[in-house]
Amino acid sequence: MAVKGSRRSAPALLSVIVPCLNEEAVVAETHRQLTAALDDLEGFEFEIVYVDDGSDDATLDLLRDVQKNDSRVRVVSLSRNFGHQVAVVAGLREALGDAVVVIDADLQDPPNIVAEMVARWRDGVDVAYGVRTERAGETGIKLWAAGAFYRLFNKLSDTPIPLDAGDFRLIDRRVVDALLSMPERDLLLRGMVAWTGFRQEAVPFRRAPRHAGKTKYPLWKMLRLAVDGILSFSRLPLRIATWIGLLTAGAGVVGIGYALMARLFTGVWTSGWTAVLFAVLFIGGVQMMLLGLLGEYVGRIYGEVKRRPLYFVKERLGFPQPPANGPGGRHKTRRRREEA
Ligand code: UDP
Ligand code: MG
Repeated sequence: MAVKGSRRSAPALLSVIVPCLNEEAVVAETHRQLTAALDDLEGFEFEIVYVDDGSDDATLDLLRDVQKNDSRVRVVSLSRNFGHQVAVVAGLREALGDAVVVIDADLQDPPNIVAEMVARWRDGVDVAYGVRTERAGETGIKLWAAGAFYRLFNKLSDTPIPLDAGDFRLIDRRVVDALLSMPERDLLLRGMVAWTGFRQEAVPFRRAPRHAGKTKYPLWKMLRLAVDGILSFSRLPLRIATWIGLLTAGAGVVGIGYALMARLFTGVWTSGWTAVLFAVLFIGGVQMMLLGLLGEYVGRIYGEVKRRPLYFVKERLGFPQPPANGPGGRHKTRRRREEA
């Protein structure tokens, strides 16, 4: 177990993971600012792992150039676009560091905050996660959706995730290993990190506007991440479905009781097509909706049991040796390699 302060002595390797999808407008500048910030860290070696998530612009070419001129850079290019969370996992699998930082490619997460995260890590914190105190240059609807997501997630899930924390964070090696031991495919990394426990602390920062280029996370993608996240962290929707079923059945019983009583004691038959039609439509609608909900869970089980690899690697640059266990295989950390 890491003792407080024990990380101060040994020179450590810090890995920085940068997922990139069509970021030709920013990668060169990002690399410049990132290395400038990392060079300022004392007592550290660092590596930067750029994960090209199937870009179809010049991103990979630019990354090749960056890698050619900087031996601390490694590039993993995925065979197609697998999504941001998968790209980060690909980076986590490649990273050799004693601690790993995940940062966006568009300079919205300021590189100079990494120093603050590293300081927390040296004090014995296992996860130093960035919390956005302000988000400049984002659309109102996106801000609203993000805010609503964090609050809904925490209402439904047993694993609360910190409000307004994205994936910009420093993660200690043992938490990285914990994450990589989780076999699921529906990934909400910030939730999974929270779930692992360990010592986690917030590092507040101002989220800058995008340096250049357009967002790769339109509203529909955010929504998909939100639904995936909620359904993979909560069974509460299923329980709510049961309650809705009980309530509508209860309403039916009350209705029948009322009609019978009316007939017995007043001689009036409750009649009318409209009431029947509404009841049928209502029950039918509720059933369809709940079937859909059930389908979402079943679909996820389907995805999990297929056991497909999360991604394929098309190209790797700057790696001393092929990966230990095939495309999805995990490297030994530098420390473990030295021990072996
Ligand atoms: N990204 C990725 N694959 C995707 C979508 C996004 O690797 O399918 C990367 C993107 O290049 C960026 C980070 O994930 O480095 C965050 O994306 P973006 O800045 O577009 O999202 P936003 O900040 O607008 O939510
Ligand atoms: Mg961004």
